[in-house]
Amino acid sequence: MTLAAPPIPAYRPFAAEVTRVQRLTPSFLRVTLTGPAFGDLAPNGWDQRIKVLLPTAERGLCDCPRGEDWYAEWRALPVAHRNPMRTYTVRAARPELREIDVDFVLHGATGPASAWAESAATGDEVVLIGPNAAFPGPTGGFEWRPPADAACLLIAGDETAVPAVCAIVEALPAGRPARVLLEVPEAGDVLPLVARDGVEVTWLPRRPAAAARGALLTAAVVAAVRDLPRRSAPGEAPPEDDADVLWDVPAESSDASLYAWLAGEAGVVTALRRRLVRELGLDRGSIAFMGYWREGRSGD
Ligand SMILES: Cc1cc2nc3c(=O)[nH]c(=O)nc-3n(C[C@H](O)[C@H](O)[C@H](O)COP(=O)(O)OP(=O)(O)OC[C@H]3O[C@@H](n4cnc5c(N)ncnc54)[C@H](O)[C@@H]3O)c2cc1C
Repeated sequence: MTLAAPPIPAYRPFAAEVTRVQRLTPSFLRVTLTGPAFGDLAPNGWDQRIKVLLPTAERGLCDCPRGEDWYAEWRALPVAHRNPMRTYTVRAARPELREIDVDFVLHGATGPASAWAESAATGDEVVLIGPNAAFPGPTGGFEWRPPADAACLLIAGDETAVPAVCAIVEALPAGRPARVLLEVPEAGDVLPLVARDGVEVTWLPRRPAAAARGALLTAAVVAAVRDLPRRSAPGEAPPEDDADVLWDVPAESSDASLYAWLAGEAGVVTALRRRLVRELGLDRGSIAFMGYWREGRSGD
């Protein structure tokens, strides 16, 4: 009797070591990572997400899952031994150097990922859960899927979405007009993002004006959508019970005039989507919205 080979996972653990740390702005820290198996790490680009498993003060990474059935391994650990796991974006990948960049928002030592990043140094280790080049099918893990015929792209988010948005904007093909709106903590957090002709990028710093989180982004997105020519008229969208929906990425858009990609604090993007649908008549199927984190709650 021959035993069937175990299935190859789409995502697998990768031991990773910090090779560079670069403070980009007051709120963004770029951490460059490499690892012995990074030749098998195959990010798809766009808003590709990965998981970062962080060392604990007591046990470092010694309990960290390393096998292909990593999630079951992690779940089987006593809760106190589970390494904190947080979701981040591959800001850039250099396969020829076996390197990736991850841009961390520094929001203080209130969470294990931000605390780790605050003191990250060359040689520090983490474990990534990332897309596996050996997997025979598409590995997924990204949500940027605009329909080819969308006349206009609206891309908006807060600071946690800045790495994803920058990667998306840099990869946009010529001839795709886009409106990009990014809310960041302060004026010094504006990054030098190079965009093609037809891509209009607006940065919305909350400070020094002391704007409430999400207020500038919401106002700017609503204004941008009002300015766009659309097929359906405001008021057509039926009400929906979406109070608990924090992430919705439609399979395909039914409104070819606009594709909106929104990511950031869950309460902000949920309320924003609701306004776009209810007040401005946008088709729900043309909005991908993703709660990247939740005010007052720890991630993952
Ligand atoms: C698909 C995806 C991609 C993401 N990509 C990135 C990325 O590239 N860079 C990035 O920095 N983040 C990114 N995030 C968001 C990141 O996962 C969260 O911010 C995460 O909560 C940070 O973990 P932590 O351990 O620092 O804080 P947690 O332990 O999760 O939270 C501790 C406290 O801090 C608060 N908090 C968490 N994040 C923030 C924040 N940014 N500002 C203020 N308060 C916060 C929480 O509400 C909680 O009260 C992404 C999330 C998703 C789902």
